[in-house]
Amino acid sequence: MSTSFYTPIEDIPQIHKRAHDAYRSGKLKSIAYRKEQIAQLGYLLKDNEQRFCDALKLDLGRPVQDTIFFDFAAVYVEVKMAYDNIEKWTRSQRAEFSFNFFAMGPRLRSEPKGVILGIAPFNVPVFMLLSPLAGAIAGGNAMVLKPSEQTPATAQLLAELIPKYLDRDLFHVINGGVPETTKVLELKWDHILYTGNGRVGRIVARAAAEHLTPLTLELGGKNPVVVDPKCDVQMAARRILWGRVSNAGQICLSPEYVLVPEHFQDKFVEALQEVYKSFYPDGPRNSDSYCRIVSEAHTKRIKNLIDQTKGTIVFGGDADIAERYIAPTVMRDVRLDDPLMGEEVFGPVLSIVPVKDVDEAINIINERDHPLAVYVFSQDKAFLNKVFDNTESGSAIANETVISCGVPGIPMGGLGESGYGYYTGKHMFDEFTHIRVSLNNPGWVDKIAFGFRFPPYKPEGEKQ
Ligand code: NAD
Repeated sequence: MSTSFYTPIEDIPQIHKRAHDAYRSGKLKSIAYRKEQIAQLGYLLKDNEQRFCDALKLDLGRPVQDTIFFDFAAVYVEVKMAYDNIEKWTRSQRAEFSFNFFAMGPRLRSEPKGVILGIAPFNVPVFMLLSPLAGAIAGGNAMVLKPSEQTPATAQLLAELIPKYLDRDLFHVINGGVPETTKVLELKWDHILYTGNGRVGRIVARAAAEHLTPLTLELGGKNPVVVDPKCDVQMAARRILWGRVSNAGQICLSPEYVLVPEHFQDKFVEALQEVYKSFYPDGPRNSDSYCRIVSEAHTKRIKNLIDQTKGTIVFGGDADIAERYIAPTVMRDVRLDDPLMGEEVFGPVLSIVPVKDVDEAINIINERDHPLAVYVFSQDKAFLNKVFDNTESGSAIANETVISCGVPGIPMGGLGESGYGYYTGKHMFDEFTHIRVSLNNPGWVDKIAFGFRFPPYKPEGEKQ
């Protein structure tokens, strides 16, 4: 892989300084300027959609429709939401009424943190950088973006377009791999947003701790699905398989394994087979609707997990490492100690784990790390509530997979091993701003209240 587009390490401190100086210049105090920059962000994407589609085709073998759905649509939503709501989000608010303190006019105001560092993964590389950028600008922050080196075409395009469309002093792209990112993390930022795996998340958290820098960690995990026999089995199979094979399973919210009652496994598998045929009537390999794995190394890793798992392959299982291809794969009768049930697969392989009943399913979920999402397919509200009330996760989603991350107004965020903090919309704005409180206490307040605080104090027992 060419590294010629990487930012020279010696330039990194200078970029950091430029962003800080630009932030301190106060340009972004103007709401009008923030709005102009947010609008520019929208144009950056709109004017260059084809180039981004081409870049993602190179990087991930991505069908255009997936790029529009997963990367573009959500960025437009974020841009519009930030643009439309910035006045409301930045307006100072009166504190809750208190008789003793109201005269001081206590208020809360969301003020920028300063310069935000955003480190993104390869899987949805436009959304993962541009949507937080909208939140950062709305909050009045400068931002430095660090795209994944695993999607070099998209990373280079971002590095070309950000300075063309946005303020060149406030917003920067640093490209590179581990040495460059390590250098970036030595510097002091005012907030870091890291999206990626938990191993690197720990590295980032240690680096942030060195400067007491606040941090948002958007990590991954293994998202379970609980399938109730009282579900619409065709719909469940369609939505679960779609969630698993879109972007070749490289989505943090993708369902990883399905907990299904033993007696219902055959019926559920039959439904998956039908859906599979309808998704790829001529097979997935030459389908225009199927994506590739980001690298040969990840393709090999996923293929090994399939090969080492003892369950039965329902369909798929084949791979072409050089082409970074893993067929959409469903394995049934997977056991909890199988390799596919260990690490996050982050590939198009769905494991079906038969269970005795819903209580066993709940126990399995609770014995593992907190996932980003718990999915349940059921037409029975009591069943849904039972699973959701007795498990913990970033989100609790009934009869759907994946698309919750694109629903305006609900944030994305994990718990425990799947991370902390929130992504998108007002919640992203809140991550990137701090609440600065203010009050102004008139002199007369001491005459009617609070004068008692000044020494000399009245003798104990005497009325204050
Ligand atoms: P990746 O390999 O692209 O790495 C992510 C970022 O970390 C890159 O920018 C990379 O340069 C940087 N990095 C890698 N090694 C580093 C090191 N040693 N020090 C500093 N920085 C380093 O992507 P990934 O981590 O494999 O991404 C996939 C993971 O991200 C999955 O676990 C997925 O579930 C998770 N994810 C989570 C969300 C979410 O919103 N919660 C969204 C997307 C992906």
